[in-house]
Amino acid sequence: MSKEILENVSLRMGRRSFLKMAAIGASFGATASFASSDAIRKATPEEVKDPFPGSKRVKTICSICSAGCGIVAEVHNGVWVRQDVAQDHPISEGSHCCKGIDQIDLVKSTQRVKFPMKKVDGKWQKISWDQAVNEISEKMLKLRAENGPDVAMFLGSAKFNLQQSYYFSKFAAMWGTNNIDHVARI
Ligand code: SF4
Repeated sequence: MSKEILENVSLRMGRRSFLKMAAIGASFGATASFASSDAIRKATPEEVKDPFPGSKRVKTICSICSAGCGIVAEVHNGVWVRQDVAQDHPISEGSHCCKGIDQIDLVKSTQRVKFPMKKVDGKWQKISWDQAVNEISEKMLKLRAENGPDVAMFLGSAKFNLQQSYYFSKFAAMWGTNNIDHVARI
């Protein structure tokens, strides 16, 4: 792909979309030449104007914390492809924090961890949820037996709703400590 085409495409696309395209292009480049491949071509003016024809804009909320800021999710063929701020949301009024503005990556990021992982001999291994829960709880109980219940501190999540907060505080009380706080106590 020529330098002129790259510059032309990068000017027409958003920075984030361009970087993603560049990453896809780089992976193709490992096995084939761009110049001779049909996998990459210059976008048509129609595609630049509307890359996801027929997509729907769905109003939803950011799920990262309990503020619940408004998000407009653009959905194309059942896939969440882009996000926008919800200008008319009564709480966020068209704004996001830095976490919410990239909420789509909770779904799309290739770096997202989807399973419990355990480091064994320096390498990460995928383990089952049962194994993760059992191993963590065994270690917690061993620590409590050796050092007493105040060995642990329970730090709540900004995403907890009222009911989850209730269960979380009950769990700390059952464990036997008053060491409990909210994650935002910074
Ligand atoms: S994480 Fe940020 S954008 Fe999401 S709901 Fe909370 S304050 Fe709003």
